[in-house]
Amino acid sequence: MSHYESGNWEAVIGLEVHVQLATVTKLFCGCSAAFGAGPNEHTCPVCTGMPGVLPVLNRKAVDYAIRAALATNCRVNRISRWARKNYFYPDLPKAYQITQFEQPYCEHGSVTIDVDDMQRTIRLTRIHMEEDAGKNIHDPRSDSSFVDLNRACVPLLEIVSEPDARSGAEAAAYMRKIRTIVRYLGISDGNMNEGSMRCDANVSLRKRGVEELGTRTETKNLNSFRAVEKAIIHEIERQAEVLNGGGTIVQETRLWDADRGVTRPMRSKEEAHDYRYFPEPDLLPLEIDEEWIEAIRSELPELPDARRQRFVSEYSLPEYDAAVLTTSKELADYYEAALRVHDNPKALSNWVMGDVMRVANEAAAGSESEADYTELAVSPENLAAMVKLIDDKTISGKIAKQVFPKMVETGEAPGTIVEREGLVQVTDEGAIAEVIDGVLAANQDKVAEYRGGKDKLLGFFVGQVMKASGGKANPQLANKLLKEKLSE
Ligand code: ADP
Ligand code: MG
Ligand code: ZN
Repeated sequence: MSHYESGNWEAVIGLEVHVQLATVTKLFCGCSAAFGAGPNEHTCPVCTGMPGVLPVLNRKAVDYAIRAALATNCRVNRISRWARKNYFYPDLPKAYQITQFEQPYCEHGSVTIDVDDMQRTIRLTRIHMEEDAGKNIHDPRSDSSFVDLNRACVPLLEIVSEPDARSGAEAAAYMRKIRTIVRYLGISDGNMNEGSMRCDANVSLRKRGVEELGTRTETKNLNSFRAVEKAIIHEIERQAEVLNGGGTIVQETRLWDADRGVTRPMRSKEEAHDYRYFPEPDLLPLEIDEEWIEAIRSELPELPDARRQRFVSEYSLPEYDAAVLTTSKELADYYEAALRVHDNPKALSNWVMGDVMRVANEAAAGSESEADYTELAVSPENLAAMVKLIDDKTISGKIAKQVFPKMVETGEAPGTIVEREGLVQVTDEGAIAEVIDGVLAANQDKVAEYRGGKDKLLGFFVGQVMKASGGKANPQLANKLLKEKLSE
């Protein structure tokens, strides 16, 4: 199918994102909610669904949920209700999941995203709280299946968007933004590898200019930003091909097969579960009063959008820099910690967006985890000290490029490295003049050309002088002295 043909269609995408809340204990019992324990170590009669037990709501989970609501501009409902979603599966011992259905705790929010230098708003339909299920583990060697209930009853938020995204890139940007927000809020690690964030993507096509929504499919099992983007791109192409061929889209649930790069059918609407939702009789309606909301609001940290705007207004940074630096709270904290030591916002921004981010990403690449700015060998204080050395002309920018990797290697202060290795910039006119004399003597033909009118050769001479001085000559001074000597 050509892009010309798919151009007749507009993609419409709505996302259901699950975020695991980083509470110490589970949603309805006192078991640890931590990831990574041995099988079934974090279980009790409540989360294993024993008869006769009663759930007790974890107040901290509601605190976290309210933070998410306020950070996404949702309206918090004073009363919300718990519901039972019934289905049978071995990882769900009660045979129902406690969730919120008809009356979620918050609704009508919005999140802004940036794609291709354009800002767009994705509206949120609602967020509700629910408990997670356990995990089935299939062991092909022993031909057995196991059930691990550590994750059962761990608190989740389900964030449901309006069908406002229009491309795979927008959907991935939205996921990233949700992760940035929950991390700023400190309510989830947002770690997609460990399943702390998962996403189902609803995709449909409609003719351009048409208001009415087309028939959608829902693709499950999207556990990385890449998967979200690629699965949606694939699904858009698949649907366009069907429609262009005169076919119709079947409303169904599909699975993303990352190995083959395709979505394939899982179940159709006819086979869809009837969850027989009904109100949870073991829990009172959840009442969130104004006082509770205001207490949470007063403790909200500065959020990514606000911080980004402040970086532009307070530090006069370009929009681009402000956006990059505030994508992660740790990165923004790192930047501001450096800025407190040495007040040169743009120079520090360049170093952080360049060398610092590269080093952090390289360190993270090996471990499959996210870049970590809290444990970098180069502390923000040392980075600031290095930029200060450049600004007060102790070292050149070029020398700094040699000093920085040594700081990464040793964690030492730049001053220590510069002193030990004799990297201090030469600002002594006599010393630089000596180097220049050597360079001019060795390149007499070029000197003649320059004097004959080939001005462009100045750059060549400056380069030679920098090289001969081991990068230590002050470039401005070298420039000035060269011009003087060449015009003699
Ligand atoms: P369900 O609970 O069956 O998944 P919902 O009505 O709650 O259905 O919708 C879930 C998600 O699907 C929402 O994010 C919504 O925006 C999206 N959605 C609904 N209809 C469409 C459509 N025609 N095309 C794309 N997305 C849609
Ligand atoms: Mg759904
Ligand atoms: Zn438990």
